[in-house]
Amino acid sequence: MGRFYITTPIYYVNDVPHIGHAYTTAAADVAARFHRQLGDDVFFLTGTDEHGTKVEQAAAARGLTPKEHVDEVVVKFKEVAARVGASNDFFIRTTDPEHERFVQGFVQRCYDAGDIYKSSYAGLYCPACEAYYTEENLVDGLCPDHGTEPVQMEEENYFFRLSAFQERLAAHYRSDRDFVRPRHRYNEALSFIDQGLDDISISRATLKWGIAVPWDEDQVIYVWVDALINYLSAMHYAPGQDLVSRFWPPSYHLMAQDILKFHGIIWPALLMSAGYELPEHLFIHGYLKLGGEKMSKTRGNVMDPFPLIEQYGADPFRFYCLREVSFGQDGMVSEEGFKARYNSELANDLGNLLSRTTSMIGKYRGGAVPAPPPDRTPGDSPLAAEAAEVAVTARNRLEEMDLSAALETVWTFVRRLNRYVEEQAPWKLAKEAGEEGAAGEAAATALDATLWDLAEGLRLLSVLLHPFVPATAATIRERLGLKSTDEGAEAASMESAAPGWEEAVWGLLPGGLVVVTGAPLFPRIED
Ligand SMILES: [Zn+2]
Repeated sequence: MGRFYITTPIYYVNDVPHIGHAYTTAAADVAARFHRQLGDDVFFLTGTDEHGTKVEQAAAARGLTPKEHVDEVVVKFKEVAARVGASNDFFIRTTDPEHERFVQGFVQRCYDAGDIYKSSYAGLYCPACEAYYTEENLVDGLCPDHGTEPVQMEEENYFFRLSAFQERLAAHYRSDRDFVRPRHRYNEALSFIDQGLDDISISRATLKWGIAVPWDEDQVIYVWVDALINYLSAMHYAPGQDLVSRFWPPSYHLMAQDILKFHGIIWPALLMSAGYELPEHLFIHGYLKLGGEKMSKTRGNVMDPFPLIEQYGADPFRFYCLREVSFGQDGMVSEEGFKARYNSELANDLGNLLSRTTSMIGKYRGGAVPAPPPDRTPGDSPLAAEAAEVAVTARNRLEEMDLSAALETVWTFVRRLNRYVEEQAPWKLAKEAGEEGAAGEAAATALDATLWDLAEGLRLLSVLLHPFVPATAATIRERLGLKSTDEGAEAASMESAAPGWEEAVWGLLPGGLVVVTGAPLFPRIED
């Protein structure tokens, strides 16, 4: 049994939940569910980043204390996870007292190691980023992310000796070329390190809403440092036994490219300083773009995924994002694109395959899946070889975090099954099977074999599709008469009833299961 610890970034409560949050969370969930199918010990962490200037200001504007404010807004972020069907094991909040205590202990270790010192700092500061910029990092004098003018700031702060970690970081990158994936992001981070690292300010004197520096109560810890430590602090108090020894270091930190520098450079340096193992991998997925630009609230080009999820369910949303956009690259999304893919692939390819199969089994075999003919082994099926190959390729790609390629592989088999229906033309076989003599018997045998093949293909799909569209996979199993072990159970126990990956082999379907014909899996969206 392996172990698998995956995280999303913790989301900044001052944002409005948008498609980027939903995308990262859904992708992390796909990986977590797949590893649970493998039988791995899995921990999936998400949560919220609740300190910092913007939160303090937003609370003040509402006449609330920061804590009252974040207690209110955290609800909508918890909903993101629930709405995309995420099976996260814990939801961390950086205002959890256990997190706050852990962060203090962590920075104390860095301080004791001699990696933190006090100095005065003056520079151009973007309050929205809560970060300093050098002139050359600005675009036309404006923040590259916000397009706003930075303000001149001067403070006495504590600094982390990031420069002292340059060589160790570069050596780590060179010894593990998969530390950051995909490769172009690795190159980006390494070249940033090779350009030389400056020490960074890790405390704020002007801010109150944060975690106090343990040796100097007049300063609070910079919100980014506080936030990064969540991945480790959670292991010390989330429900579960021995989480640190079971799960540290993380298998994957998942994120978009805008926070690569924090995770690829500052975070590993902090871990080195405090004496912890580094994460195994960072995976940088692309942006979902609408109108060719990165979606952001500032730019006002946000596609709201939640009405679509409300109307069509979490599965179509998860499916769409991972089908439409190559995982690790930027891609365009739109509501029209969502509807087109929903109709052509979910309603037509998959939905029709299931309804055709169950209704033919109903019509020609009284609703019971025929046993494969006695002289025919599962391996004799014309689909067997391709099914085996699809299962192996999908597994390899999922293990490589190549989520969209894995789904593409699975979809080739959905299409293969549809072609198989046309090739075999069960309606013709049924007609011929009604005739007297050897020809009729041969047709009846061929019909049994075909119907079993289709049902077995769908059963296999219910295993392979589970990480991507868990509710759909469960419905396919119900329709095939494969009993779900705890009906009406809550999401958590549904998850434990998910088929293990050992079922991702051809030939396991017993004959005699009674299929259920129900409403279309995905009713077409009419314009
Ligand atoms: Zn900014």
